[in-house]
Amino acid sequence: MGIPVVAIVGRPNIGKSTIFNRIIGDRVSIVDDKPGVTRDRIYGTGEWLNRKFHLIDTGGIEVGDEPLLVQMRHQAELAIDEADVIIFMVNGREGITAADEEVANLLFRSNKPIVLAVNKVDNFEMRDLMYEFYSLGFGDPFPISGTHGLGLGDLLDQVFELAPEKDEYEYNEDVIQFSLIGRPNVGKSSLTNSILGEERVIVSNIAGTTRDAIDTPFTRDGQEYVIIDTAGMRKRGKVYESTERYSVMRAQKAIERSNVVLVVLDGEEGIIEQDKRVAGLAHEAGKAIVIVVNKWDAVEKDDKTMKKMEEKIRQEFLFLDYAPVVFLSALTSKRLQTLLPVIKQVAETHRRRISTSVLNDVIVDAVAMNPTPTDKGQRLKINYATQVAIEPPTFVLFVNDPELLHFSYKRYLENQIRKAFDFTGTPIHIVARQKN
Ligand code: GDP
Ligand code: GDP
Repeated sequence: MGIPVVAIVGRPNIGKSTIFNRIIGDRVSIVDDKPGVTRDRIYGTGEWLNRKFHLIDTGGIEVGDEPLLVQMRHQAELAIDEADVIIFMVNGREGITAADEEVANLLFRSNKPIVLAVNKVDNFEMRDLMYEFYSLGFGDPFPISGTHGLGLGDLLDQVFELAPEKDEYEYNEDVIQFSLIGRPNVGKSSLTNSILGEERVIVSNIAGTTRDAIDTPFTRDGQEYVIIDTAGMRKRGKVYESTERYSVMRAQKAIERSNVVLVVLDGEEGIIEQDKRVAGLAHEAGKAIVIVVNKWDAVEKDDKTMKKMEEKIRQEFLFLDYAPVVFLSALTSKRLQTLLPVIKQVAETHRRRISTSVLNDVIVDAVAMNPTPTDKGQRLKINYATQVAIEPPTFVLFVNDPELLHFSYKRYLENQIRKAFDFTGTPIHIVARQKN
């Protein structure tokens, strides 16, 4: 079964991002007393009683300086388009306002399941405030408090009660799922079309598997792939779809379902800040990554241009030093044939498993060459290492004191592991645990 998408809708300053942070546990977002503070995260994945769900804070998508009612309409539309269940949030201390009624009307007509949450009900005595909210017509209101974290369990129970059973298609694990992310106009849709238009690619069918993703399965040289569609690739023309935050959210959704993420850059225009933000999402998600420099046909070049561009990429994307770079042109299809083999290679390294004995040989050699650091007279001692996960490969080091594994030594060990095994294109995680 697929993961339900839940959206929070409500007026500014009623506590949407506070609740979002409580549920997702993401301290990155900024909560401020000012209404309409910028939020870093509007989309995240939460878990309640072992069931996962995606949560969208629609308040984080602001469309220009529109008046309140227009903003509210955009938020409601976004929630109706994207979510399976909508949490309609109101402020228990302020009662029902005209903007609440406007939103209620839109949501009412949507046929989506709605859960009415009354926030800022910080204590039991305040529960008397609840009665007026029955008049909104969404049944029992759920009292919650973002500040004190009250009522969230009951709220989420109700959300799951109303969540439809989604039958999102699950692919066989040999199938490589990949997505193309990048700022607008770098050529994501052109590249998708040229990959699919290439000879020797057999497109099975364009499957509209779910409402929010268009997956395109195809086979090439006996390997099955699926392209996961992202926002920029289907321009539907809703107002909020032109906002950067919305495209970031859609990119996050696509990244989540991918094994491999292609970070597409525009070779003609070069690298800008937005490219780094987009690439950061894929890195944080721990996916295999290929950097694709598109529009290479439009670049005036000599025999050093490619090398220079690669150096520039390495400087700008320090955190992606493991990602291979492919230069190509979606327009002319030049060098396009180099792409799928690289995607296949990084999908394999992303799933690579190293046996404990071979891994420990590498760690022992690494420590012999460069002794472990000391801190306040204590030396880091690594008892043994083992790989605990794939996608991305994750290694646990059992040590005397995890605090002693400093960043630079961890980095050194990562490099030694990369020298010993091919982990091209995949991040690797190293975690220290106290040995008992
Ligand atoms: P948003 O604009 O709807 O996302 O609202 P915020 O999450 O930014 O919260 C707006 C203000 O309400 C902040 O000052 C919060 O600290 C405060 N707030 C949020 N939840 C509660 C609550 O449950 N009780 C009280 N008393 N204040 C809250
Ligand atoms: P998206 O917004 O990332 O999906 O970008 P599009 O695929 O819509 O492409 C944006 C523009 O770049 C269009 O005008 C394309 O024709 C152009 N474009 C895409 N790929 C190439 C390429 O390889 N070379 C050149 N010269 N132009 C390209």
